[in-house]
This record gives sequence, structure tokens and C-alpha cells, in this order.
Amino acid sequence: MSRSAHPAGPRHADVLPEGHYSAPPADLNFLDPKVWAQTVTRGADGVVSVGGIDVKQLAEEFGTPAYVIDETDFRGRARAWRGAFGTDADVFYAGKAFLSRAVVRWLHEEGLNLDVCSGGELATALSAGMPADRIAFHGNNKSPAEIRRAIEAGVGRIVLDSFQEIVRVAHIARDLGTRQRVQIRVTVGVEAHTHEFIATAHEDQKFGIPLAGGQAAEAVRRALQLDGLELIGIHSHIGSQIFDMSGFEVAAHRVVGLLKDIRDEHGVELPEIDLGGGLGIAYTSDDDPREPHEIAKALTEIVTRECEAARLRTPRISVEPGRAIVGPTAFTLYEVGTIKPLDGLRTYVSVDGGMSDNIRTALYDAEYSVALVSRTSDAEPMLARVVGKHCESGDIVVRDAFLPADLAPGDLIAVPATGAYCRSMASNYNHVLRPPVVAVNDGEARVIVRRETEEDLLRLDVG
Ligand SMILES: *Cc1c(COP(=O)(O)O)cnc(C)c1O
Repeated sequence: MSRSAHPAGPRHADVLPEGHYSAPPADLNFLDPKVWAQTVTRGADGVVSVGGIDVKQLAEEFGTPAYVIDETDFRGRARAWRGAFGTDADVFYAGKAFLSRAVVRWLHEEGLNLDVCSGGELATALSAGMPADRIAFHGNNKSPAEIRRAIEAGVGRIVLDSFQEIVRVAHIARDLGTRQRVQIRVTVGVEAHTHEFIATAHEDQKFGIPLAGGQAAEAVRRALQLDGLELIGIHSHIGSQIFDMSGFEVAAHRVVGLLKDIRDEHGVELPEIDLGGGLGIAYTSDDDPREPHEIAKALTEIVTRECEAARLRTPRISVEPGRAIVGPTAFTLYEVGTIKPLDGLRTYVSVDGGMSDNIRTALYDAEYSVALVSRTSDAEPMLARVVGKHCESGDIVVRDAFLPADLAPGDLIAVPATGAYCRSMASNYNHVLRPPVVAVNDGEARVIVRRETEEDLLRLDVG
């Protein structure tokens, strides 16, 4: 394919339409280590590699689009979280961010625990050998069959999410002749996202039991009365992509307030507090996430201080990072197809995937970065929108980004920080086949989730 430039598109010197972008970066070939996985580098030949393997080789061997996950980086982040919280706390990786059997093994080997929120996630975890007592089972509508399966398997905790579930889990546990360790998930009236938290109306959601109006206290009262349950703690999860710790401060204050009320009413000091996940990562160079050790220090200090003030023994803390572990470890590798410059607007760059492999932009207006990875370019920056191949105009992967103006069909581009909530939310829209997940480590690449095939699609279609 020729690399001749397409007809001149809009340039940054021209009128720039509205969007979420700042000035074009000084060097389009630069890969910001904040947003790219740890072992990603650009070689002397201009080709980007990860884990010692270049992207052209990956595209040739595994095809595009493909999610490429840096195992070294994943293990490093898992270990950093584990190490930061030490042995007095537990780190549960939130499986919904991305779960596969290889990932379960990595987590197990690195000493992490695992959150699941469906029978399918539980089955994946168990089939890869995660000890059941290191699994926590979440969800606002677990089916009786899922609850039974989890209790039979011996999961370490079930996080109770409603009054009905308190009774349901207690009955099933009794029926199975056991006592299930449980936490109660409460809503504390705080919702946190990125740089702010909203301290109102957070009760207006499907998860958890509100602290407000004494509902959580009533849930605790009921749970303590049921002999199928062993209530070990209170759980709170306040948001996602959080950079500012003040939301956790308010949440911890309120949860500790409940622990104090429980002590005063029942003479019981619950031994655990779970502060959930939601810690942010860098999707673009503008994001500045905190390191796990800073987060661990801040959370431990907050809980310790609140407990001292309430004259409670400090409970064992647990946290549930999903995105913060897996998000930065992967990128999506695409091949550029058609390129459509729209005068005075921007250039639409179509790739061979789209909203079926990354729904976050369409769903949450998420921001991403993108880079040309199969070569370098000295061409000037062009304002681009990376779109997919689906029959839907909202099919956008990267809303606003600068790519070199000589971008051409056949080039490989990559979108970093797609490890979380991309493969796990992938769909078959337009009967597009879901991409594989390729793990690279030390010069070796292997498929950990294979690409879907037309046979896979047709196997389910039994009409
Ligand atoms: C989604 C979720 C998490 C993980 O959230 P991240 O933003 O991926 O860290 C943790 N705990 C609970 C209960 C969740 O629902």
C-alpha cells in the first residue's frame, strides 16, 4: 500500500472545532510512559514494541484488532498494590475490569484476592485455580443458583446488597449446613469521579443499602440474627476513575460511624472494612494518578484516625482496584482503513474495530490517546477522530486526538490504557468478531483469549 498522503485535511493551524483536546503535543512520536504499559518502547526503526516484540510482528501473527497486554506490567502493578497494603490488608482485584484464566493465575501468584460478580466470573476464577476463600462475590441481583454455587465452592465472602439477599443467603447457607462469611454493602451518600465528589443523592442507585434513615443499621441487625451468616464487615464503593482521596475520607468517616453504632448497640466490633475500588489511571497525559503506596498510606491513615476517634480497634482494610491494575497494562492495536478529511472540522480515521471492542467512549464519553506505532512520522499534526467500522455514528474510539498528517491506510495505530472495561464489555455488534487478548512477556507473545471466529458466532445461532 502506498504511503502517499491523502488530500490535505484540517491542520492545527486552521480553525479547530470544539472538543476535549489541548494543543497538539510537541512530538507525535513520543509515547508518554504515564499512559503506555511499562515495557512499551519505540525502536530505532521507529516501530513500537512491547515485551520485546514489535507491533508489526504482533499484527502479522495475531491479526488486528488485538488487545495486547504486558504481563510484566500487570504483575508489577498487582505486586505494587499488594506490597503497598502489606499483610494487614487485602487487595481484591475487581474481575469485571478484565478476567481470563491467565489473569487469575497471575493474581494468585502475586498474592491478590479476587472479586467476582456473576456465575461466569466465578466459574472462570475457580477453573483457573483461585482458592475459593480468596474470592469475594458481589452483585445486586445474584441468583439463588449463583449464591448456592458460591457457598458450595466456599467463597471467602459474599457482599450482601439488599434486605432480600440477606435472607436468601442465610437460608441457602443454612440449607447447606454452613455459615457464610458476609459483608454488607452500604451507600454512604458520596459519589466520586476523578477530581470531585458529589455528596448528595448517591442513595438513588441500585447498589447497596443506604446508611441514611437507619437502613444499613437495620440490615446489620437482621444479619446478626441469622445463624446462616457470619457478618465480618461493612463494604462501600464510591465511584470510578477517582484521583482525589477526599471522597474516601467522607466514606470512611461514615462507615466507621456505622461500626461505632454497631458496637454500641450490639457489643460487636466488626473486624473488616472494605473501601471498594475506583482508583483512577492515566488515559491521557493530562491525568495524574497516585501511586498505590500513596493510596494505601492515605486510606490506612483515614481509617486509623476515624477508628481512634470512635475508640474502635482498627478493622482489617480491604480494597478492590480493577482499572488501576489492568487498565494501563494493555493497548488495542488497530490497522488504519479509510481516512476521510472533513474540511474545517477534522479527519475521520477508521479502524478495523470500534465500539464492539471499546464501548467506553460511546458509553461514558471516555477520553483516550492514540499513536501511530508502525513507524515514526515527521508530518505535521492533524486533528483526528478515530472511529470504528460499525453502522452507528456514535461508534467513536478516540474522540479527539492528533495523528500525523501523512497517516495512511495500512498503518498501525494503538490506543493505550484499554486493559480495563474494553474486552470485558466487548460485544458482537454487527456480528463483528471480538478481538483476541495477546499477552507479551520477555520476548514471547501468546494468546490468552483467542479471537472469535465465524464458527463461534454461528454455533450459538441454532435456528
Ligand atoms: C467496579 C467495582 C470495583 C472496581 O472498580 P475500578 O474502577 O475498576 O477500580 C470494585 N468494587 C466494586 C464493588 C465495584 O463495583
